[in-house]
Amino acid sequence: MINIQKLVFNPFQVNTFVVSDESRQCVLIDAACYGDDENRILEDHIQKEKLVPVRLIYTHCHTDHILGNTFVQERYHLEPEVHPKGKLFWEMAKEFSSVFGLSYDGSMKPTRFLEEGDEVRFGSSSLRVLYTPGHADGSICLWNETQQFVIAGDVLFYGSLGRADLPTGNFEVLKDSIRQKLFTLPDETVVYPGHGPQTTIGFEKRNNPFVALD
Ligand SMILES: [Zn+2]
Ligand SMILES: [Zn+2]
Repeated sequence: MINIQKLVFNPFQVNTFVVSDESRQCVLIDAACYGDDENRILEDHIQKEKLVPVRLIYTHCHTDHILGNTFVQERYHLEPEVHPKGKLFWEMAKEFSSVFGLSYDGSMKPTRFLEEGDEVRFGSSSLRVLYTPGHADGSICLWNETQQFVIAGDVLFYGSLGRADLPTGNFEVLKDSIRQKLFTLPDETVVYPGHGPQTTIGFEKRNNPFVALD
C-alpha cells in the first residue's frame, strides 16, 4: 500500500511528495525545501515516519522545484533522476533562480535519467513515467495504476494547468500532453499537482476551463 505525504515548501508553495510503502522505503519527488528550517522539516518528517529515502526524482527542473536538491543529495546520498530533455533548466538553475528572486547556488548534474514508460521501483511498488511536455521540456508525471494516482508536477492543477509562457513552454503541446497522457487514465485517478490541492482526472475532464473535453 503506497502512502503519499505532501509537504509544501518555499515562497512558490511547491508540493514536495514523500511516497512510501510498507517497506518504509520512500521516493522524494520535487525536493523543494528552501533554507535550513525547511530542510529540517523534511528531515524530521522522514525520521518520524522511519522512512529510508531511496530515490530522488524531479517532475521537471524549474528552480522552485529543485531548491532542496543539494541538501537532499548530500543528506541521503541520492542522485537526482530527471528526464533528459530538461537539461536547459538544471544547467541554468542559478540564472533562472535569480529571475524568481531565489538563490540556488548548488550545482545539479543528473546522472540518472527517466524516460516515457520507465518504471520507478521502490520497496514493493512502482510508478510509471509519462512524458508530458508543454509547461517545460523534460516534464514528467508519475502514475500508479494499482492505487490510481498520478503525481502531475506543473502539468495539470485543480481547475487549471501549468504556465506555457516560460522558456520551452508551449500551450498546444501542454494541452496535448494532458489530453493524450492524463485524460486517458481512469476517471477515478487522483491527481497530485506540483502546487495546490489534489483533484481527479474525471473532475478535470468535465470542469477544467482550459482542457475540459466537450
Ligand atoms: Zn514549473
Ligand atoms: Zn512549479
